Amino acid sequence: MTNIAIIGDEKTGRTSLASKLGKKGTDSDITLYDDDRHERKYVYVDAKSYPKSIKSIMAALNLADMALLCVTPNGMTPHTGECIIALDLLGMKHGVIVITKSDTSYPMEIDAFAQKLKKMTVGTVLENWEIQVINTNKDAPNAFEGLEELKNKIHDLADIIEPEQKTKDALPPRVVIDHFFNVTGIGIVVLGKVLQGTIHTHDKIGLWPVDKKIDIRSIQTHDIDVKSATTGARVGLALKGLLERELDRGYLLSNDEIVATEFEINCTLSKFAKAGIELEDVVHMFVGLQSEPVRVKKITVGGADKEKIGAGESGVLKLISSKKIAYSKDDQFLFAGLEDNQRFTAVGKPV
Ligand code: GDP
Ligand code: MG
Repeated sequence: MTNIAIIGDEKTGRTSLASKLGKKGTDSDITLYDDDRHERKYVYVDAKSYPKSIKSIMAALNLADMALLCVTPNGMTPHTGECIIALDLLGMKHGVIVITKSDTSYPMEIDAFAQKLKKMTVGTVLENWEIQVINTNKDAPNAFEGLEELKNKIHDLADIIEPEQKTKDALPPRVVIDHFFNVTGIGIVVLGKVLQGTIHTHDKIGLWPVDKKIDIRSIQTHDIDVKSATTGARVGLALKGLLERELDRGYLLSNDEIVATEFEINCTLSKFAKAGIELEDVVHMFVGLQSEPVRVKKITVGGADKEKIGAGESGVLKLISSKKIAYSKDDQFLFAGLEDNQRFTAVGKPV
């Protein structure tokens, strides 16, 4: 199964595109669209509350194996730039730049814009992404231009992504939870993605950061009961042994996580993080789908203690949160300053 984030500035046609690609399902600050009509299965995640909420885009990207970045022929906006920085910091290898609303411009102008986009993304993770021009306007003379080509590009990337997922099926299981609710007669149902490994019905597995063993009663993928689910699968799980209030977005089902309120992260700041990060700053930390404000208690650059770390610099940040966070040593930690114009500031891994 390939999970695809649809991101971009508001009014770039993200939701119109999502509804052409799949069937609408779970809806919160992200909306899931399911496409199980082909041999290959796809789940699209519309980061619908972005740019207002960066939690929305972080959730979509952390659930995704690839991304579609939507841009209109009107050009890049500061939020398009912010999306590119987020993709670059997270190292999103696979994706397509989608020039939407092609019916609102002219082929020559769109070509020129595509050339410009190619130049502007040199040196970023988007450098090798293909560009696809589309529209979703049924009344346009060129109605639905590019949609089939876009689906083919997504399919080609799934041909790379799915074998990558297979290599992780034998790893210890890890599922990230994005939604949860109490269903009368069933109990707690969580929705999420198998990040690695394989889960089976009747498995006993840990819930983190709660640190509690729970039972997997049943597993569904695409609304069908299954006995097991492998890496990349989007699942609904009925769980035994917990209460709804014990859950939160981003919690993990796994047998081995680190739980902490203090973190030492080897960080690199974005070249565009003009304000830098200073001692005692409160920054927003994203780890998978968990997010929490943290306070900067120590900054070390090149082995020396510093008051501040600047744009483009690397160093170790010591941070403290008031809530427990669960993570593994290979997880990426992303940092954002919510007041800044360009909000994503740094990325790193635990020391
Ligand atoms: P989002 O904010 O990125 O989710 O954008 P929407 O999908 O909600 O689209 C924003 C507006 O643009 C809506 O009024 C859509 O009807 C319109 N729109 C979306 N796609 C197209 C398109 O391909 N062509 C034209 N002409 N309008 C579009
Ligand atoms: Mg929308």
